[in-house]
Amino acid sequence: MIKENLEKIRTTLPSGVTLVAVSKTKPVSDVQEAYDAGQRVFGENHALEMRDKHEALPKDIQWHFIGHLQTNKIKYIIPYVTLIHSIDSANLLEAVNKEAKKHDRVVDCLLQFHIAQEETKFGLDLDEARQLLDSEAFKQLENVRICGVMGMATFTDDMTQVRREFQHLHALFDTLKSEYFADQPSFKEISMGMSDDYPIAVEEGATLVRVGSKIFGARNYQVNGEH
Ligand SMILES: *Cc1c(COP(=O)(O)O)cnc(C)c1O
Repeated sequence: MIKENLEKIRTTLPSGVTLVAVSKTKPVSDVQEAYDAGQRVFGENHALEMRDKHEALPKDIQWHFIGHLQTNKIKYIIPYVTLIHSIDSANLLEAVNKEAKKHDRVVDCLLQFHIAQEETKFGLDLDEARQLLDSEAFKQLENVRICGVMGMATFTDDMTQVRREFQHLHALFDTLKSEYFADQPSFKEISMGMSDDYPIAVEEGATLVRVGSKIFGARNYQVNGEH
């Protein structure tokens, strides 16, 4: 089914939108099946799980980290991670920079924004993002590159609200682009949309959609930070 699911989703995505196949909690064999169907971009939300899958699977996979990242786990992902979607503090960004420097890498990152109504979701607001980007400490960071924004909508059936939250994230992207990144073509990513709402996210300008259960089937246990 994984192959069929992937093909169904791919036909609905415009070119320019990257499908991040969220394989968290799923076995290596499922990831391999998606890989064999041509998928190369995968998302994980636990550092050790991602490390283990990276070690077990083909090395041309692009691994995206999409979950809350603890600073003591950064070392497990930095040598190979393609994009970290979930930067939600200056401290985390500085810690990523420090580890990336050890590996002589520049690691691409997104700023995660809190766009949902729920209190529990991680993420910055616009003021916090400006504080981070204005800080002298940020300007010293040479081993991270901010490439855009990420957000998770409220867990609700109200698609009007979900759309509004995606529009909000797009507006945040536009604001930061004009204030800080106007001359940086690499600041171009809007990561939003999951299995239940990715078509709306695409309509609202997503460049990366993070789809798990629609590809791999329902997960049998809940993971922190997830609905
Ligand atoms: C689990 C997860 C997803 C994918 O969720 P599905 O509803 O299974 O598509 C997307 N983004 C983040 C941050 C997640 O934790």
